[in-house]
Parts: sequence; C-alpha cells; structure tokens
Amino acid sequence: MKFSKVLLMLGVLIIMIFNVNTKCIKCEEVQPELSEYKSNIKKKAFLTFDDGPSPEVTLDIIKVLKKNQVKGSFFIIGSRAEEYPHIIEELVNNEMSVCIHSYSHKYEDIYKSVNDYIEDLKKCEEVIKKHVKGDVSRYVRMPGGSFGSIKSKAMLKEIKEAIVDNDFKYIDWNVPSDDTQERYVSQDLIFRNIKKNVKGKNTAIILMHDSKYKKTSAKVLQRVIDYLREEGYEFYCMDDITEEDEMLLIKSRIINNGVGVTSEFTHIKDYEPKVE
Ligand SMILES: [Zn+2]
Repeated sequence: MKFSKVLLMLGVLIIMIFNVNTKCIKCEEVQPELSEYKSNIKKKAFLTFDDGPSPEVTLDIIKVLKKNQVKGSFFIIGSRAEEYPHIIEELVNNEMSVCIHSYSHKYEDIYKSVNDYIEDLKKCEEVIKKHVKGDVSRYVRMPGGSFGSIKSKAMLKEIKEAIVDNDFKYIDWNVPSDDTQERYVSQDLIFRNIKKNVKGKNTAIILMHDSKYKKTSAKVLQRVIDYLREEGYEFYCMDDITEEDEMLLIKSRIINNGVGVTSEFTHIKDYEPKVE
C-alpha cells in the first residue's frame, strides 16, 4: 500500500513538472512570436481627395498636409485642372499624388458607353501629363465609385474591364468621410465618420472631397491627422503604394473590384481589408 502511495505521489509530481514545463515553452516561444507579429502590423492611411482642384480649398489642404509632412492623393477633374493649372503645379511641387478622376465628371456623358468613359479618362490623363514628371499614375477613381453609380450593371462591368484592359487600376475606398452626404457637413460629423469607419482597418483608404462646398473637409484635416497618428497610422499616397499593399487592396476588392467577379457587387460598407 505504502509503495503504491509513493508511486501515486511520484506520478502527480511528474504531471505537475510536465505542466510547468509546457507553460514555460508556451511563454518563451509562442507569446513573443505573437507580440512580435502584432507589433509588425503596419497601420497605413491614404488620405484621398476627389473632385479638385478648387481655388477655394486645395491650397488649404496642401498647407495642412505640408505642415504635417503628409502626402495626399488627389483624384482630379481634368477640366478644372485646365482652369486652375497653378493649383496642379502646387500639388506636383509639394509631391502629392495627382491621379485621374475624370475629365468632365458628367455621369450622363461618361457612363453612356465604354468608349465615352475611356475617352474621358484619357483626356484627363493628357491634362495631368502636362504637369507631372514621368508617367501619370495608373490608379484612377471612377466618379461615384466602381460599385454602382449607373443603373446598367452590364455597362458598369464593361467599363471596369476596359479600364483594366487599358492598363489602369481603379480604386475605391474603405473609410468614407461622408463629407458629401449634404452640401454642408460639419467638421465634427466628418471627424466622427472617419473615426467610426477607420476602426479595425490596418489599411485605410480615406475618401474626402476637394471642392468649394467642402471647406469643412479642409478645416477638419488637422484633427483627422492627429487622431490617425494617435491610433498608430502612418501616411502614404498612391505614389508610395507597394506591391504588397496592392495585393491586399485587390483581395479586399478596394482595387479593381468586380473585374472577373460574376456575383453581385458587394456594397462598399462590406469591404474590410483583411489582416494578413
Ligand atoms: Zn467625384
């Protein structure tokens, strides 16, 4: 009896030692790996501005970005660029990304046919070409986004395929500021929208606007930059995009959404960049 008791105690002791060892292995090997993994995730924010240049707002946006050493991406309207070439020059001189939005931005004209769309896009490219050194960015933003600004889904699909066939990539967004939901949107509301929509996203493509009605978008920019920095984001523009970023954005359907996808288009709010 005594011998079996000793055996039992020995057994318990061995199990206890084994457990302690297992826990130590977990502490030493698994946990540091996990924390290293977490700290390695880079939070990237791309501030994008559609519809400029505008004599009322663009220079204010540049001023704030410059002060904070942040480069923004401007998806411009070609016809406005022809009106205000000096503003495009300011963007270029301050190393902002100048990308194609549309030449006319008239939905009824550009979304009439594939040819009309591509003609408008190339006209905008020609305007930008006069200002930038080197090639014009291949990233374009479709007016209204790629997910349903026109009624005909068949036409939309054809246009998106034509954009890719013409060696461009179209990019949407995953953080709307909703600064166009009404003509006047307060700074507080824009800030709250960005704060809410950026949550949980390691790659944030933030959509704002650059037009005479959007003075609050420029005014709230400092607060937005401060908040994103506090949250650990670093700022990038379309000219800095890496192959890895691009792959992630394609997988998240923020770049080239829908090309080769036969199912119904997902609503933009469902897009969540996946943490790789
Ligand atoms: Zn637009």
